[in-house]
Amino acid sequence: MKKIAVFPGSFDPFTKGHENVVQKALNLFDKIIISIGVNSTKSSYYSLESRKQHILSLFENNPKISVQSYQTLTTEFCKENKANYILRGLRDVKDFEYERSISHMNHVLSPEIETVFLITAPEYIHLNSSIIREVGKNGGVIDNFVTNAKILVLTM
Ligand code: ADP
Repeated sequence: MKKIAVFPGSFDPFTKGHENVVQKALNLFDKIIISIGVNSTKSSYYSLESRKQHILSLFENNPKISVQSYQTLTTEFCKENKANYILRGLRDVKDFEYERSISHMNHVLSPEIETVFLITAPEYIHLNSSIIREVGKNGGVIDNFVTNAKILVLTM
């Protein structure tokens, strides 16, 4: 059976930390679906289409990777795509507490789907999408934190 993982997130934007998690995961899975969760009550800073194009640009030569958006429960999205793993990144204890709760919830919903956590390389531990958004909003350059940042387009 092929090992298919869904890597869910807001990716607003997709940072070098996320990129590092995917690079590490490529050794573990046959296919990784980077999945942008769309929440109708939460507006995003960068447009959905540009977030998709941005992530695709980072992995365009890799047939193992695809990018999709979804609006359902993550576990339902996994089933629709025959994914038996959820991939998540961990930076620190705060991430761990939060991620543990989500993974327990997902386990109750769909025990056949296993969550796999990868710890990001130390140089990316400080990268946080919401802080990077603040830098962007205030006119700062985000190229040190996001590869190919020029592809991203603001929603307004
Ligand atoms: P969410 O809105 O689901 O938290 P994010 O886009 O913020 O989505 O993050 C998606 C996943 O990537 C989460 O598992 C998060 O902990 C992880 N992550 C975020 N930033 C980093 C980073 N710098 N290094 C490694 N993992 C990260």
